[in-house]
Amino acid sequence: MPIVHDPLPITEDDDTIRRYLNDSFLPALIPALAHAIGDMSLLREDLRAPEGAMTIGVEQGGMTAAQQQAAKEIALEAIKKLRDGTATPTPHSIEEDARAISRWMTGSAASDDYLPMLLEQLAADGDPRVPQWQADPSKPFHAVVIGAGMSGLLAGIRLKQAGVKFTIIEKNADVGGTWFENTYPGARVDVPSTSYSYSFAQKTDWPNFFSPQAVLLDYFREVAAEFDLGGNIRFNTEVESLTFDEGAAVWKVAVRKEGGGTETFDANAVVSATGQLNRPHMPEIAGMDTFAGPSFHSAQWDHSVDIKGKRVAVIGTGASAAQFIPEIAKEVADLTVFQRTPAWFVPAPNYHDAVPEGQSWLYQHIPHYLHWYRFYSFWTTGDGLLAAAKVDPNWDASETSISEPNDQIRALLTMYLQAQYADRPDLAAKVVPHYPVASKRMVIENGVYAATMKQPHVHLVTEPIEKVTADGVTTTDGAEHKADVIIYGTGFLASRFLTPMKVVGRGGIDLNEQWDGDARAYMGITVPNFPNFYMLYGPNTNIVVNGSIIYFSECEVQYVMGCLRMLIEDGHRAMDCKTEVHDAYNERIDAGNRQMAWGFSKVNAWYKNDKGRVTQNWPFDLIEYWHQTREPNPNDYVWL
Ligand code: NAP
Repeated sequence: MPIVHDPLPITEDDDTIRRYLNDSFLPALIPALAHAIGDMSLLREDLRAPEGAMTIGVEQGGMTAAQQQAAKEIALEAIKKLRDGTATPTPHSIEEDARAISRWMTGSAASDDYLPMLLEQLAADGDPRVPQWQADPSKPFHAVVIGAGMSGLLAGIRLKQAGVKFTIIEKNADVGGTWFENTYPGARVDVPSTSYSYSFAQKTDWPNFFSPQAVLLDYFREVAAEFDLGGNIRFNTEVESLTFDEGAAVWKVAVRKEGGGTETFDANAVVSATGQLNRPHMPEIAGMDTFAGPSFHSAQWDHSVDIKGKRVAVIGTGASAAQFIPEIAKEVADLTVFQRTPAWFVPAPNYHDAVPEGQSWLYQHIPHYLHWYRFYSFWTTGDGLLAAAKVDPNWDASETSISEPNDQIRALLTMYLQAQYADRPDLAAKVVPHYPVASKRMVIENGVYAATMKQPHVHLVTEPIEKVTADGVTTTDGAEHKADVIIYGTGFLASRFLTPMKVVGRGGIDLNEQWDGDARAYMGITVPNFPNFYMLYGPNTNIVVNGSIIYFSECEVQYVMGCLRMLIEDGHRAMDCKTEVHDAYNERIDAGNRQMAWGFSKVNAWYKNDKGRVTQNWPFDLIEYWHQTREPNPNDYVWL
């Protein structure tokens, strides 16, 4: 199935369509059909889901059984019109429809401010972000992209579309970045497949609602092939250093080549797409090197180690561990899980479900159903939740909650956990967090974790770890937990951006020395003294509760392409971010983050660096970043 598709002709009989409709998602199907047959009267008031309904994890967006039944009948009639060619659509703008549809979906219409962004994300009539300019092939300009993961491939697509010469340097043997590296059992994204994919490269044959690692790796391979990026990527090659040559205004890119040896070449611009969660974090626990058995990090899963029938210790209970623990528990004889801080669990009942036959059929046959489904997910899981992560100055903020909506969600999620562990009060006491929701990465799941933790051969240990010994892990209460294998689910060196690359800018300044352990950037993209150097998923561009990180990468790449356009078309050699612009921007970011759960709470989280500053997260809404990154302001830069 190609990534960009035209709907297939409908040839099925009424009964088959009726059966497929049982698998449909009606809050998106009805709008898709209304738009397709040009009859907005399908959006009947009496069929709307209850206003303000919590839509996440709620079947059919909260529509009642009677509403669902009526909606299916309407849908059948509309599909028959499409099949039989009896629809008589009147010309109408997608913009008008999108406003009516967003209101029908959730009760609140997309504002004038929001709508253009939603329409761009909808990408229903092609890709609106294809660069509308072409680099002059006679001008020598070469860009280097570091990394062929989600962001690096996206940069490659846009560079290719604009005719800019470029090379992607990738340390691994394949594309996919984190989805190539993290092969631990159970690895899966926790954003719906339709959202965790480029807006302009949607698929109608997603096998799962939430893509497992192998599916995403295939997707990124498919995208690389579809956009013909293969010839631009140098695999098994790692960038060791970047040094800006001020005289020539080029970056000297030093790489370790495939098979050994180094090579240095010039680049007029460098786009770093190395990700925030790329370098595994191994803890410093006394005696780790004395352990007699095999041990490895979750991001470097050693598939040669047979854990079947073994005693396994897992250190860490973050998003990675929460996914592999239920998988390995099926095989091991004994599993001891060391938890330092419990995570909030958010229910997604369909987390492991395959996309049913009818839903796939509808994706493939109903014009733009997939796009409207994505629109729904974008609209309902976007900025709406952000308010609950914001500190209310009038709320008696505490260690457990920061506002009334935050407290309400805490109560709901606490009930969810307590219900799961109702038969195990000993575990319930350990797994309910005592910090505000959204201070730390929440885990999306469907109950398998709790079911696993309750198994007799699984033990949850919350006493702090004192040391690792030759045959296991000892906790501070003196207990020895014997293990044949230790798995570290201990996360990543997220705040050490670009580690271990050496980046030297104007005046011989080393980027890591300039940052001094406290990375920051303008828009998360540019840094003073490092001209023509652009980061994707850089400092303060991670989102916590609102949407998919791919949206952010699309915004960042839009901005970078605007910068390159100015360099190439206006004949500048280099652009360097003004320090005062950068500093004022970061003051605002810091003030914003202090108002958010993750900046307010003192709980451990990879969102903060060693100094306690939030280096990872974006504190504002999605639309603000969209506006900021539409196009660069030349006044923000010194032109060299
Ligand atoms: P993580 O969230 O940083 O979790 C690391 C775990 O290791 C935490 O439980 C941490 O405890 C524990 N830990 C670290 N050092 C320790 C020590 N010295 N002693 C005891 N425990 C220690 O890492 P992750 O689970 O790999 O996830 C990282 C991020 O990757 C996620 O937050 C998410 O953004 C992304 N991810 C996403 C998915 C998905 O989409 N489903 C899946 C996996 C990962 P503390 O909490 O006390 O620090």
